[in-house]
Order: sequence, then structure tokens, then C-alpha cells
Amino acid sequence: MSTERPNIVFIMSDDHASHAMSCYGSRINETPNLDRIANEGMRFDNCFCTNSICAPSRAVILTGTYNHINGVTTLSTPIDGRQQSFIKLLGGEGYQTAVVGKWHLGHGGHSDPQGFDYWNVLPGQGDYHNPTMIEMGEEKQYKGYVTDIITDLSIDWLGSRDKERPFCLMYHHKAPHRWWEPDDKHADMYEDIDIPEPETFWDDYSNRASAASEAKMRVDRDLNERDLKGPAPDGLSPEEEKRWKYQRYIKDYLRCVASVDDNIGRMLDYLDEQGLAENTIVVYTSDQGFFLGDHGWYDKRFMYEESLRMPFIIRYPKEIAAGSVNDDMILNVDFPATFLDYAGIEKPEEFQGTSFRPLLQGSTPDDWQTAMYYRYWMHLAHHNVYAHYGIRTHKHKLIYYYADALGQGGAVDDTKEPEWELFDLDKDPLEMNSVYGDPAYAEITSKLKDEMHRLQAEVGDDRYHRDVD
Ligand code: CA
Repeated sequence: MSTERPNIVFIMSDDHASHAMSCYGSRINETPNLDRIANEGMRFDNCFCTNSICAPSRAVILTGTYNHINGVTTLSTPIDGRQQSFIKLLGGEGYQTAVVGKWHLGHGGHSDPQGFDYWNVLPGQGDYHNPTMIEMGEEKQYKGYVTDIITDLSIDWLGSRDKERPFCLMYHHKAPHRWWEPDDKHADMYEDIDIPEPETFWDDYSNRASAASEAKMRVDRDLNERDLKGPAPDGLSPEEEKRWKYQRYIKDYLRCVASVDDNIGRMLDYLDEQGLAENTIVVYTSDQGFFLGDHGWYDKRFMYEESLRMPFIIRYPKEIAAGSVNDDMILNVDFPATFLDYAGIEKPEEFQGTSFRPLLQGSTPDDWQTAMYYRYWMHLAHHNVYAHYGIRTHKHKLIYYYADALGQGGAVDDTKEPEWELFDLDKDPLEMNSVYGDPAYAEITSKLKDEMHRLQAEVGDDRYHRDVD
């Protein structure tokens, strides 16, 4: 009986956008090992996070609740691990559980990993080279490159497990998070080529709310010498300097991705060698997306597509048709409900997501979600992005910048004038032209507001008091 329950290897990297994966049609790199997962399983083209920033997305995935419920609204709100998690529920039903690598939900007190049989995690962001890690509460020093080490430790744990019981491993890479430090093996990759610039690289932020022009995540202005590993050469025009910075940034980012890809190849080979491939669900995702020069930016936080979208590929040969693609909407809050479903564990009432196992079996329930609710809370922190919430459907996106810290940890208490944006995703998939206020969109705007307020009520989040238009 126990052997019939699938194992789960949940692979999550940090800030890896799907447009830097060849299985998603990347124009800028190849990821042959990640492509194996997609080719042997299913690729989701509309997977979104409910808050595009590291700790909050991780908390959603662990607890199955939105950030206003799990309390991790920003980077300054460590998790209270006493709440329910899918890991605790799996453990309670005989699963062996571990988390290795990036944790980023706080340390000490109630914020260390809880409910895991084994944990070995980076403190905070952790280091790329010779990282310190915390193994079950004890600091340890490792020699080498973080992506290799996290893989070694994950494989070691798999080797030491009780083979009679199913397992769930959260195998979490730090890469390709800022400051994008590659290993020696990939240091010269892309040296002699130019990486193509994205279509919106020269965006001037016109026809949008002021939040876009106010954000401080511009490739030309906001990347620093630590990001770029040195100063720009003298004598470049502003355009040439922006191009030079983009190449420096994106090449290091892609070199870090290449190492992730290599290591996932090692993990997949290990599962093959151990005869585990058939009965193990393998997921690859990232805690959110990232701007890869899109809109002239790096970083995330915005509800815009490149940041909102998560890569999500999943392999489980027993149930998922190889090479399948799905464009139904799934959210990070749905992940833990899905894992519990596969483990045969009833979803607790407080879990707010829905299992998407039917989608994996090839059928979409008639009442499957066609709209999602998003909220970014960390007003003005780090990159000057205004706090906002919004709704995305398959065709439209409505964003309300309420632009207020509302006392959230780490948010900056400097309220700005609220603003709206509306994008017609069919006509303007790159989100260059907000049509909010255009009379042709009055009816859809009103419907979207109603639907957004309905979703807010459904998930139990509070509407901002000035959201009255
Ligand atoms: Ca992240």
C-alpha cells in the first residue's frame, strides 16, 4: 500500500523566469535537463504567484494559504512555523520529508523549518561560493559552489532514506538570485556572443500608471558594480552603456541557470539509476518570475507578466502524458493541495488552493478558475515598487496601486496617490499601454472590479479603503 503513494521531488529555484528556459521557447538560452521534465511530463503556460517576491511565495507553497493568512506578506515578516503545512501533513501520514537549500522564511524561534525530518538550509540569501548552511539548527561550512552542494546534500539525503516509505524532498536552489555569481565551469559561457535584447528593452514607461516610471530596477540606472562585477567602460554613449550592462547582467544570470540545469540533470539521472523515476512526481518551478531586461528592468514584484508568471513543469509517468501542455490557470497556492491529493490526504479546510490533479490527468473541470487575485504588499521597499493588488483573467489584467504601506513590515510609510491600470492581454501582451479609463473598456473594467472584489472576499483579504472608483 505505502509503496503505491508517489514520492515527490519539488525543485524550486529562486528568480528563474520561464522565458529563460528552452522548453518555454527561450530566445536567450538552452536548458536541456529542464526540458527533459517538460518533454516527459506537462508544461503549464499559465502558472502564477499570488505575490511576486521570495519569502511570501515560499510561505504560500508551504501553508496553502494567501499571505494575509500565513502572515508572510513581505521579506520582513518571518514565518510562524506553528501553522499547518503540507509537509507536516505528509509527515503525519508516513512520508519522509526534507528541505535542502534556500529557505528564506526566517531563522530561529518559530521560523526554522518545522515538521521536516531533515533540513539543511542557507541562512537568509546564502552565498554562492563556500556557503555556510544550517543543518538541523547547527551551522556548517561547505566548500564549493552552492548549486552543486545543494544537489549533493539532496542526493545524500535520498540515499539515506528508509526505502520502504514514500518521501517528499524540497530541493531548493539559491540560484539564479542576485548577485548572479556563476561557478568557474560556466564563467566563460556566452563570452563571444551577444544575448538578444527583449522587445520591451527600450520601454519609456509612457501610457502606464506612474508606478512603472517610479520603480528603481532599471538595467541602465540601478544595477551596481557588485551586480555587474565592475564599472562600465569609459566613453560609451548612454545607449551603449545600457546594452553593455544588460550583457553583463544577463550572461551571469544565464550562467547561474546553466549550473541549475546541469544539477537537475544529475538529480534526474539519480532517480533513473535508483529506479525511482516511475513513482516520483518531479516538479520544477521558481518562487516567481523575473524581468530579464524586459521593460528595461531586472527584479520582480510587479503584477506584470514576466514577474507574475512562474515556470511550472511536472513529470509523473504513471499519470501525466509525456510532452503535454496546459494553458489552464494554476497558482502557487494550489501546489500543496495537489501534493496532498496525490498522497491521498484530505485537504484541510484552511488550505485555500485547489488540487489540479484533474488537469494533470488531461481534463479541465467545468468550474476551474479563470481569474486570479494578486497582492504585493512591500510598498516602496528596495526597488520603489508601489503596493498593489489586482486581478488577471485569461484576457485582461486590472491593477490597483493602492500605494500605501498599511503598517506592513519592511514597507515604507510614504503613501502615494492611488492609480489603476488595465491591460488587454490579447491586443497588448507586452503590457505597454494601459487602457484604463478608455470608454471602450468601461464595461469590462466594471466587471473586473466586481470580480476582484469577489475574489478578495473569497480569500478573506481586505479591500483598500480608497478602492471605490
Ligand atoms: Ca525569488
